[in-house]
Amino acid sequence: MGLIIHMKRLPTSMELIQHLVQEPSVSSDDSQLDMSNRKLCEQLANWLDDLKFTCKLQPVCEHKDKWNLIATRGKGQGGIMLSGHTDTVPADEQAWQSDPWKLTASSQHLTGLGVTDMKAFFAVALSVINDLPAKHKPITLIATADEETTMAGARALQSQELPKPTLNLIGEPTSLVPVVSHKGYQAYRLSLTSQGGHSSLNKHQYNCLDAMHSVMGKLMQLRNALAHQTQNTQFKVPVSTLNLGTLKAGDAVNRICAEATLEFDIRPLPDLSGAALEALVQETIISALAPFEVSRQLAPLYHPIDGFLTSCQHHHLEHLCDVSGTTAITADYVTEASLFEQMGIPSIVLGPGSIDQAHRPNEQLPIAAIGEAENIYQQIISHYCF
Ligand SMILES: [Zn+2]
Repeated sequence: MGLIIHMKRLPTSMELIQHLVQEPSVSSDDSQLDMSNRKLCEQLANWLDDLKFTCKLQPVCEHKDKWNLIATRGKGQGGIMLSGHTDTVPADEQAWQSDPWKLTASSQHLTGLGVTDMKAFFAVALSVINDLPAKHKPITLIATADEETTMAGARALQSQELPKPTLNLIGEPTSLVPVVSHKGYQAYRLSLTSQGGHSSLNKHQYNCLDAMHSVMGKLMQLRNALAHQTQNTQFKVPVSTLNLGTLKAGDAVNRICAEATLEFDIRPLPDLSGAALEALVQETIISALAPFEVSRQLAPLYHPIDGFLTSCQHHHLEHLCDVSGTTAITADYVTEASLFEQMGIPSIVLGPGSIDQAHRPNEQLPIAAIGEAENIYQQIISHYCF
């Protein structure tokens, strides 16, 4: 261990969290609520600049003023990547007992929007880096845009030349337990239309409710087939799931239904490829509609997300379990991990705070979680970088 780099004194972890929480960075499908994350990225870049990182701010979506930050320091092969998203979900302010964008502290907890998901992660990462000796293998810190909506930030990274670390640590709140796998996510809207007609006419081939009934039957068969195909008992629900979510159809009892819309989602186990699943869905719908004279439009509601299964080597995973004093688990939520894995970057999700606090009013982080996370991150970074 060589010289400690203390260029400029960084604020304390608590002050860093305070700055980050008071910089709003909501991402939302609702354009009234959606915000830029530029100032938050600039704030992170300023601190990282003080720590002698080379920082690149890259536009993800210019008209929405969304940015990614890629910051690196250190030389050689391997090293570590620390990645997280800069955005939060909207606040739902009426349900908050305090100002969501002002960090409040009790003796045990910090409260603020995004404190757990996942602004404290950046504060922890910066604090640990601040105390590191000067010479080390590369450390790359990545801050992405729009994870909570489109994952556009992480997708934009896929066209970049990123460093190839030995491990990417994604600091989503996992209560500091390594998450090695999660399911994927796909959601669709199927719209059917036909010429309709008077209900006295015996023309069921034009009836969009009849046609949708056929589709729903076939989708339920697909669900059963998927459940029989693969099971993975590491997941609480050990099979891929398909849920019929909403159905809107028809406008009068005496008309042949000329319009029907169904929304459904699928959460595939990680070994089922997103593209293969999409093809299965298409096939199922086409065969269900064969007897009908209706037009169909199938639209994804979100960019499909593949399931995640870490490619991190076993001995690295063992080390993470040792350091965190836990065993690896799977998660029921999705993260950017599968996108990093697609870039050939072995990833593990491990960060401070509990997922139970994410996306809810009065979001809290136990103050003790900050020190625990710093301790674990310090050991992990030292392991990969020195
Ligand atoms: Zn998150």
